[in-house]
Amino acid sequence: MASGSCACKHIRYTTSASPTRLVNCHCSECRKQAGAPYLSFVHVPAGSIQWETEPKEWKSSENATRTFCPRCGSVLTMKVFSMPEEEGLAAGTLDDVKGLVPSLSAHIFLKEKASWFQVPDDGAERYEGWPQ
Ligand SMILES: [Zn+2]
Ligand SMILES: [Zn+2]
Repeated sequence: MASGSCACKHIRYTTSASPTRLVNCHCSECRKQAGAPYLSFVHVPAGSIQWETEPKEWKSSENATRTFCPRCGSVLTMKVFSMPEEEGLAAGTLDDVKGLVPSLSAHIFLKEKASWFQVPDDGAERYEGWPQ
């Protein structure tokens, strides 16, 4: 359905389900991990990612774990404990998405947005924190 990898290609994956919504998260953790104004995730059902090599896991807060490549540091996924049925896959790691192209649905955690970044007028929903 979709495939991708980290920057150094040590970690490669395929997903057995099409990614659906695309969410741009502006929280400070995502910003810092991405080194960018926000981190984009597509959502896939939990357990639908098949790893050729398992990424490393990091418990990023009381609410979530994130995975990354131990060689190049690329962010790969985020799992939020309160949403066990889905997993966020870092959208920039995707190489190929067959069929369904995820559409941008929301900018979230705008209360933590970088002051120097202007959110584009792209029609996506906007939330101060988690989507309501
Ligand atoms: Zn890597
Ligand atoms: Zn975030």
